[in-house]
Amino acid sequence: LTSGLETAWNKLKGEEVLSKENIVEPMRDIRRALLEADVSLPVVRRFVQSVSDQAVGVGVIRGVRPDQQLVKIVHEELVQLMGGEVSELVFAKSGPTVILLAGLQGVGKTTVCAKLANYLKKQGKSCMLVAGDVYRPAAIDQLAILGKQVDVPVYTAGTDVKPSEIAKQGLEEAKKKKIDVVIVDTAGRLQIDKTMMDELKEVKKALNPTEVLLVVDAMTGQEAAALVTTFNLEIGITGAILTKLDGDSRGGAALSVKEVSGKPIKLVGRGERMEDLEPFYPDRMAGRILGMGDVLSFVEKAQQVMRQEDAEELQKKIMSAKFDFNDFLKQTRTVAKMGSVSRVIGMIPGMGKVTPAQIRDAEKNLLNMEAMIEAMTPGLFFLLINDVTSVE
Ligand code: GDP
Ligand code: MG
Repeated sequence: LTSGLETAWNKLKGEEVLSKENIVEPMRDIRRALLEADVSLPVVRRFVQSVSDQAVGVGVIRGVRPDQQLVKIVHEELVQLMGGEVSELVFAKSGPTVILLAGLQGVGKTTVCAKLANYLKKQGKSCMLVAGDVYRPAAIDQLAILGKQVDVPVYTAGTDVKPSEIAKQGLEEAKKKKIDVVIVDTAGRLQIDKTMMDELKEVKKALNPTEVLLVVDAMTGQEAAALVTTFNLEIGITGAILTKLDGDSRGGAALSVKEVSGKPIKLVGRGERMEDLEPFYPDRMAGRILGMGDVLSFVEKAQQVMRQEDAEELQKKIMSAKFDFNDFLKQTRTVAKMGSVSRVIGMIPGMGKVTPAQIRDAEKNLLNMEAMIEAMTPGLFFLLINDVTSVE
């Protein structure tokens, strides 16, 4: 995905502004890159439309090239596509919080049960796991072993009891023990089938869970969209957990989930260890997909620092000769906010020819001046600004 997008930015090199005409080619590359990354087609269509609309309307930011601006717009849109903010887990106001996990076979549900308990334990919550996958005795053993590993109790009732019954019993047990969070494992199938859905519906009815999280393998690709849609329609989910992000997935599933279901990805699994579960950060994921952190922070800083009003106010002050040392200090600090002088210069296209020695000098001068101004009392300030000799 990253290299596919690279082609798009390159097509804008040498352009002055983003226009309806010059974004056609790059947008085609972006579309292709997203499709190749297994993002579902309707999602890609909406995405491309939205980015194009914004790109044409965007103004010019001083010092920022059009390709950099497009990177920024694509990034923002990716973040939005994935839900914008981090979506926290919801906890019940009273009684145990019940988290029901659903998903196809082999996606990582049982592993997530234990990882999630481990994760919540670190936040000071007591957890209990419930073995609701009754089809394979091995599944119950697996959960028991993982539970022991993270030191969390596991409720099991063998393979002869209905999952919804086990779930109910497990919840009762948890209430008795005043457990904060009950995490229920369920059986998956290789493909969506009616028996699995019916069983999940029944378990859900028995539990009235706070969270119903669909566990999705990041490698699912194009099918992720249909999968999430079906689970959401059939049983109603509150969010998703994306697993196996440590593998060489192309990221498509991450981009489709929110858009097709309206439900956010809440957590991601990045490995087989119990510690490998973390919140899902849309902006980090977007950054990873774009692989252009430098450009993003440059455009952001340029936007922040060169806020129009600031610039205008400053200009007025200079014109009316009211620009004093305080203003000067503010300006110096604005530059400092952007990072060291060398980094700021490095971010400005075409400024590569400034020598490191020149940059070091400039930085030293700024520091010296700042120290001098800081050391002044307002009185001395006054003397300096006004005619010093007249005070004698
Ligand atoms: P379930 O059938 O949905 O319960 O899936 P399991 O929890 O049994 O996991 C299936 C396999 O995927 C196991 O070998 C897990 O170790 C592995 N697995 C689960 N999550 C991850 C992950 O985030 N990264 C990697 N690399 N492997 C994982
Ligand atoms: Mg399992």
